[in-house]
Amino acid sequence: MSHDIEPLGFLRTCIDRRFVEASRRKFEEATGLLPVAYWHEAYAGGSARDPSLVANDAKTGNNIYADQYAAEHGATVFGWQAHIDTCGGLPGANNTEIVKALDEHIRAMIAKYPNSLHYRILASNSGIEITRVHPGFAKL
Ligand SMILES: [Zn+2]
Repeated sequence: MSHDIEPLGFLRTCIDRRFVEASRRKFEEATGLLPVAYWHEAYAGGSARDPSLVANDAKTGNNIYADQYAAEHGATVFGWQAHIDTCGGLPGANNTEIVKALDEHIRAMIAKYPNSLHYRILASNSGIEITRVHPGFAKL
């Protein structure tokens, strides 16, 4: 039995049924995380939209988001997914606007968790593209 501390992660995706399973698989392949080693939040629009709060701290009054919950419980590997080719969470946005919104979200999350690993996941009808963006292999 290993006594190493296994890394934990957090994945935020759109709920679109075309891409959820493949996005999880790509995230696991890229990070080496097992399915039980990361939290997964899914909502319409995914990382191209602002998340809803999951709780409010009764002492501070501050909103708590799922990514914060995961980070506070040990997540250090983050995956931020959105998809193009029509998103029900962003019905008015074209592909360029969705990509721009995803990259803005990722920049904000890197600023929020600068000491963690961040992966950008862009899903489309052509497949799932995953890139580690921080610490950088690729510039946003
Ligand atoms: Zn969507």
